[in-house]
Amino acid sequence: MAFVFGPVHSRRFGISLGVDLSPSGKQCNFDCVYCELCAAKPMSAMREVANATEIVADIERALQSGIVCDVLTFTANGEPTLYPHLAELVMQVRALLARFPAPPKLLILSNGSRFGIKNVREALQGFDIVKFSLDAANERVFRRVDRAARGIEIDDIIEGIATFAQEFAGELIAEVLLVKGYNDNPDDVTQIADALRRIAPARVDVGTIDRPSAYKVNALSESDIEALLPLFWGLRVFVPRREALQCPQSYDAAQILATLRRRPLSKDDITALFDKPSQQRLQTLVQNGEVAREEAGGIVFYCAR
Ligand code: SF4
Repeated sequence: MAFVFGPVHSRRFGISLGVDLSPSGKQCNFDCVYCELCAAKPMSAMREVANATEIVADIERALQSGIVCDVLTFTANGEPTLYPHLAELVMQVRALLARFPAPPKLLILSNGSRFGIKNVREALQGFDIVKFSLDAANERVFRRVDRAARGIEIDDIIEGIATFAQEFAGELIAEVLLVKGYNDNPDDVTQIADALRRIAPARVDVGTIDRPSAYKVNALSESDIEALLPLFWGLRVFVPRREALQCPQSYDAAQILATLRRRPLSKDDITALFDKPSQQRLQTLVQNGEVAREEAGGIVFYCAR
């Protein structure tokens, strides 16, 4: 069975080689309305468990074939932390990568639901980058959007992620996916942002549906998302931007500093929102040491000092 797919180019992480821990089909403890996979009843444990040695052998074959990548991205046609041998697998992959001169980083994409479990947190320690989703911060919205298996509650998820955030030395990245009429109410988004401020990830990716989804739901427009961004004050928010969002304006140095004090802006934000003279003013602030240029998960952010 093929566990490795790609590589694909991801703007957020560079060249990514995928490792699918559930290639036979979807195995997830959520059934999100926006899922790009088919709708399926959520499960609390994997029914089909792949052999870790076979997964490692498949990764080895791919790397020996000359594929060069920045990250090995672990996914699962569902939730990868349901994989019961995750810790052992990561250890084996680490041992394999030690034989390569410029090994890729290990990245896992999770729905965050099992970070409260101690041995899941221990397995996650083996990754360089852990990305989790948070689409709700109250039970009502969580039930509607993520449609989790029985017994999974959003307060426990947030608690588990916050605990993991304190223990993890790697890069922790959050993703918020907004669905029109489900979790885009400003009060609900404020609750998500409050939870994220408590977790303090290195970066928060905010997006909406951009591919066909399991259920008939609608995306937010780019201006809808833009209007909600101030609610994420204090967090490094990254929004994938399309051409339509480019609306460069003029900012003086004081305005730039005031904006960055409220919310760090990514390089993409700067290109989309600042006209050329304002971009030059920003560079001067960087040179003067009033603005810091920091990287979070491969994305450059500008932050007021
Ligand atoms: S957590 Fe991911 S795989 Fe699982 S249902 Fe949601 S979007 Fe699909």
